[in-house]
Amino acid sequence: MLGELEAVENLYPFVLTDEQESLRAEIRRFAAREIAPHVMEWDEACEFPSPVIRKLGAMGLMGIIFPAEYGGSGLGYVDYVLAIEELSAVDGSVGLTLAAHNSLGTNHIFLAGTEMQRRKYIPLLASGEWLGAWALTEPGSGSDAGGARTTAVKIGDRYVLNGNKIFITNGHYADVAVVIAVTDKTKGTHGLSAFIVEKGTPGFRPGRKENKLGLRASDTSELIFEDCEIPEENLLGAEGEGFIDAMRVLDGGRISIAALSLGIARGALDAALKYVKERRQFGKAIAEFQGIQWKLADMATQLDAARLLTQRAAVLKDAGRKVTRESSMAKLFASETAVRICDEAVQLFGGYGFIKDYPAEKFYRDVKLCTIGEGTSEIQRMVIAREILKVNPSRG
Ligand SMILES: Cc1cc2nc3c(=O)[nH]c(=O)nc-3n(C[C@H](O)[C@H](O)[C@H](O)COP(=O)(O)OP(=O)(O)OC[C@H]3O[C@@H](n4cnc5c(N)ncnc54)[C@H](O)[C@@H]3O)c2cc1C
Repeated sequence: MLGELEAVENLYPFVLTDEQESLRAEIRRFAAREIAPHVMEWDEACEFPSPVIRKLGAMGLMGIIFPAEYGGSGLGYVDYVLAIEELSAVDGSVGLTLAAHNSLGTNHIFLAGTEMQRRKYIPLLASGEWLGAWALTEPGSGSDAGGARTTAVKIGDRYVLNGNKIFITNGHYADVAVVIAVTDKTKGTHGLSAFIVEKGTPGFRPGRKENKLGLRASDTSELIFEDCEIPEENLLGAEGEGFIDAMRVLDGGRISIAALSLGIARGALDAALKYVKERRQFGKAIAEFQGIQWKLADMATQLDAARLLTQRAAVLKDAGRKVTRESSMAKLFASETAVRICDEAVQLFGGYGFIKDYPAEKFYRDVKLCTIGEGTSEIQRMVIAREILKVNPSRG
């Protein structure tokens, strides 16, 4: 397995630092040892791998993008992309768990939180002691996230939350969730605010746990709020700025979904490269047929192009640039490309691609979420179009 991974590694678009190389190697060894043997068992049982997530915390990955002064690893998005790709090449569910925790839940607190909120929550989350979730989607509002109906009414020094969120990654296991709710329904998206809600708060509970097509070891749950009272100091960012902050959070989050796409596609390509050398038809390995080789060449080239766009977004994010356009482009291209690569991998496995004893079918199931979560491909195109229409076309 690792031998085959070398072949794809050579396609990496730029030279990594020694630290980045050792981070990748460490994560790759960890994934091969602690994740790979259990992937199908977790998938079939929809089992959330809590012990592995705790170990990722001990490795510093649950706080990879946060400064050391808040208990994080002090690394950047380039490292974060590497980490998610490595984990997702073995199990996308683990990659998604890490992504939702880091760049959504924890990052919203980091971006919009007061110093007191940062000091209270980031060290717990960055160490992996606590798991984070981020709750924007509702039954009636997905792509149109501004149409949220969950309310937060200020009464004295408290807010009272009522409503429900769905499809929330880590929802069932999260120790803390960032929740977007309506504080002023006359103001549209400017009437939405973000709140920190801790597990165990009366009136707050996880609801239905979804049974999914893929990424079945990641948790996707409903969150229910029934007269849930939280102290006013749990307002995150200014009142009315929850939606704007959520869009900033998604700028970083979409890079992580691009990385998830890369990882799943690379896992599928690695598996296909190994299989085509072993599988014999017409008296030779199917890898010797030009028709097969061309498929492999296209898959590898498309994967590299997706990686370049993803790392461009990561490099710019690390440089402190606004990456709305770049992260949407990376997410759109990497996810759509990854779906095609995983489809082609199943085809290369022939009938065995359809059978659960072989790895291709799981990559094929897992990868589809990448074109949906954190904004569908259609929404990414809307974001990109809006961004490019803003600028002077001659400047590009
Ligand atoms: C496994 C999983 C994990 C998730 N994790 C989280 C999470 O942690 N937190 C969270 O808040 N949410 C999460 N989500 C929700 C996810 O972000 C939404 O499902 C997604 O944004 C799409 O919303 P929707 O499902 O309501 O689809 P809809 O918005 O109903 O879209 C249906 C279709 O219509 C298209 N469409 C909608 N509007 C337009 C338009 N204007 N133009 C063209 N096409 C359009 C969409 O692209 C899509 O094809 C998760 C979802 C899944 C499946």
